[in-house]
Amino acid sequence: MKDTYTYQIGESLYLNLTNRCTNRCTFCVRNGKETYEGYALWLRTEPTAEQVLSEIGDPKRYREIVFCGFGEPTCRLDELLFLCDKIHERGGKTRLNTNGHGSIFAGRDISGDLKGRVDRINVSLNAPEEGEYDELCRPLVENAFQGMLDFAECCKRAGIDVRFSVVDCIGAEKVEKCRKLADRLQIPLRVREMIE
Ligand code: SF4
Repeated sequence: MKDTYTYQIGESLYLNLTNRCTNRCTFCVRNGKETYEGYALWLRTEPTAEQVLSEIGDPKRYREIVFCGFGEPTCRLDELLFLCDKIHERGGKTRLNTNGHGSIFAGRDISGDLKGRVDRINVSLNAPEEGEYDELCRPLVENAFQGMLDFAECCKRAGIDVRFSVVDCIGAEKVEKCRKLADRLQIPLRVREMIE
């Protein structure tokens, strides 16, 4: 069976660039799952940007093209940037769903690269403070929580439409703390339901 590089949910097309990730979240949709929404998203090999582009076709057929698969899209930054440019050239819209570790992974602030390429960024906030974040997300990188906040702030300062998200399974009290943190950083927060 062929690897799934792109998959459609609703009116959006999702791009599955990698299975690598800098977190090992306890609630990750990948845990113990072979498929998501009927799509097999574990990859035998990561796709080239050209392979993904040929599957996208005309991006205007979709509401938006979303970088979000079984892994962290910014682990493939060059391919992501290339695809954003091509999608924009063809009149499409782009969104990045990320754990916010792109700058940590690249070893530099990548917000300037994303500006003008990614139309919207959803950053998984997940927890209101470092200890809880580390427990929930089990990061593989140093300074993961603060690095994620810094990334979101840099993207906001660069003029990108940035939102935070949390999963409701963390409980109402922690969601409220996340809301206060997001308010302080002046970044909108979306509370989403846990995907079983
Ligand atoms: S950051 Fe996303 S892909 Fe990575 S482990 Fe967490 S939920 Fe899964």
